[in-house]
Amino acid sequence: MKLCLSCASIIDNGNSCSACGSPISRDYDIIVSAAKSSVEFGILYRNYYESQLTRNGEISSKASIVPPDQWLVFIGIAALSGIVGNASYDLIKSVIRKIISKAKREGGESCFTEFQLESSHGIEIFIEYIREYNEGMPNVSPEVRSAIVEEILIHGITKGNSEDFTALLKRSRCNLSEIANILREAQHKELSSGSLHDLWDKMIDEESH
Ligand SMILES: [Zn+2]
Repeated sequence: MKLCLSCASIIDNGNSCSACGSPISRDYDIIVSAAKSSVEFGILYRNYYESQLTRNGEISSKASIVPPDQWLVFIGIAALSGIVGNASYDLIKSVIRKIISKAKREGGESCFTEFQLESSHGIEIFIEYIREYNEGMPNVSPEVRSAIVEEILIHGITKGNSEDFTALLKRSRCNLSEIANILREAQHKELSSGSLHDLWDKMIDEESH
């Protein structure tokens, strides 16, 4: 299952969208991986550690969070298209609403309840968290930010990138916010400059038609 980056329909199989005819973007996998890590670290881990900090006044236990649901990744792509790309806020929100209504028809709505994505406010917070993650989380408390950066490192290392991470630790002098910056830059470099630009060109807002 893939998301059409022109009309926000779901592509179940094949190399093009059956609704609008657009081919699957050649940067699709890179875009999905950027969206996945934005949702995973910028929202799931952030929520987990922030609520722990609020509840206990400290972060004492580390999480092992399941990777984000496919639908949440799609919503993450929509958010990134306006943060790294140039989509307008209204367009992103209508893309997100289209994804949510499709997910509900397919029985995948459980993940939306947790983040209150059926309300406009919930969608705004989701987009804001993705934006903050991609800006290095300057307003997130240092304890939470450190815990998230640690997760990013652990995930990177367990994926077999240990050589890169040794270099990374050296370059950043083990400074956690510097690590966050370097990782974010690396992710943005991977996305070719235009890969998140001019998405949703065939999007029709279902609510206004
Ligand atoms: Zn399409």
